[in-house]
Amino acid sequence: MSSYTVINPATTEAVTDVHLASVEETDAAVEAAHAAFVGGWRDLAPGERATLLRRFATVVDAHVEELAELEVRNAGHTWGNARWEAGNVRDCLNYYSAAPERLFGRQIPVPGGVDVTFREPLGVVGVIVPWNFPMPIAGWGFAPALAAGNTVVLKPAELTPLTAIRLGELALEAGLPEHVLTVIPGKGSVVGERFVTHPLVRKIVFTGSTAVGKKIMAGCADQVKRVTLELGGKSSNIVFADADIDAAAASAPYAVFDNAGQDCCARSRILVQRSVYDEFLSKLEPAVTGMRVLDPTDETSEMGPLISAQQLGTVRGFLDEADVAFEGSTPGGPGFWVPPSVVTTEDTQARIWREEVFGPVVAVMPFDDEADAVALANDTEYGLSGSIFTRDLGRGLRVARAVESGNLSVNSHSAVRYWTPFGGYKQSGLGRELGPDATSAFTEEKNVFIAH
Ligand code: NAP
Ligand code: MG
Repeated sequence: MSSYTVINPATTEAVTDVHLASVEETDAAVEAAHAAFVGGWRDLAPGERATLLRRFATVVDAHVEELAELEVRNAGHTWGNARWEAGNVRDCLNYYSAAPERLFGRQIPVPGGVDVTFREPLGVVGVIVPWNFPMPIAGWGFAPALAAGNTVVLKPAELTPLTAIRLGELALEAGLPEHVLTVIPGKGSVVGERFVTHPLVRKIVFTGSTAVGKKIMAGCADQVKRVTLELGGKSSNIVFADADIDAAAASAPYAVFDNAGQDCCARSRILVQRSVYDEFLSKLEPAVTGMRVLDPTDETSEMGPLISAQQLGTVRGFLDEADVAFEGSTPGGPGFWVPPSVVTTEDTQARIWREEVFGPVVAVMPFDDEADAVALANDTEYGLSGSIFTRDLGRGLRVARAVESGNLSVNSHSAVRYWTPFGGYKQSGLGRELGPDATSAFTEEKNVFIAH
């Protein structure tokens, strides 16, 4: 029996011990999930599946405070973020609860008979979740997967299992049948890998590092297993000289330092047109030094600690080789704290410019014109998000179209929204989550021809 001691990253104190599942326990859970699929969930009337998902949403809503408190302690998230995250699970469930009754096929004109298509569920879906946004990323996988008639086995990150475990209990409390949503805490190398190799798991939804994502994609090839990947990012916040510089400078820290920079959508590159470069930096500085970096049990905290000692070491490694122009504060003490840090560079080969830091560090670089900005933003193997600040709407749209990235926002830093598709270009991922079409990714399209 192996177990993992969950640590509060703001204090390094132990929170609780969690049992880590073995391969045998994983196999038993997958087999039970498959039995729940063929024996019930798949064949439940669409309206009943919808009702159960709405009940699940209602139960989550009644536990937002409790779930948020767990995430504040387990992941060091701020209260504001943690409440939003629990509410996002509720909203996703409500949004996709409308899907079972709308899983339309098509009637296609053909000679000699009638042709219809059906959207049929895949079976057991394996969702593998990272530690940075434990609740939302779990919900983006299980809500549409369940709505489409699949059962789900979910592996939270070893570091952050507590909210996922609670969501699994709340699903039962809401009346979802046993084994329809099973949360299996464990190691990636044990539970995660078994999802990939188990023949009854018909799709993997993975969010995490690009390195592990590539391994999972290669593993899925063996059974031609369906796979959706949400991986890393190195996204740009592009500030043109004609932008509202005050607004751009005031919002830039939150677009990268939110969740202590542990966000695949973090705008960790800021590109500033040269003629306003100094003005922008002078306005960015008070916005960064004014950030409230506090123990997240303080409700006014805007940024908490990093998730682990290991992540702290990685981020310090980046800072050791960079020139920090200015930085914010930390409360100090035993937690995994790094101040929000701003690095200036004109070296496009510097590690800080090329690699995902996953910490509160942003690199700022000047550019000359629109073409230069687009070329610099696209000079990366990643392509997940990005922002454009300009008062010229034509330019805003032109640059949004030119940046090779899945999620762009103009004059804002839009977070992931469940109404709209989310995913990456290039090595930031494969496939899309969320939005009106998410259930399609959890179905096979079957074609049936009936002769006259
Ligand atoms: P990771 O190793 O990719 O972990 C993500 C999830 O995959 C965890 O649940 C992990 O389990 C599991 N996993 C690990 N190895 C696996 C395998 N061989 N087969 C199946 N599942 C496996 O990410 P990490 O180590 O936590 O973080 C490393 C870096 O990844 C970060 O510094 C950051 O750059 C990036 N990252 C990106 C995102 C994102 O949202 N795109 C999220 C997290 C991290 P364990 O809990 O046992 O590791
Ligand atoms: Mg890892």
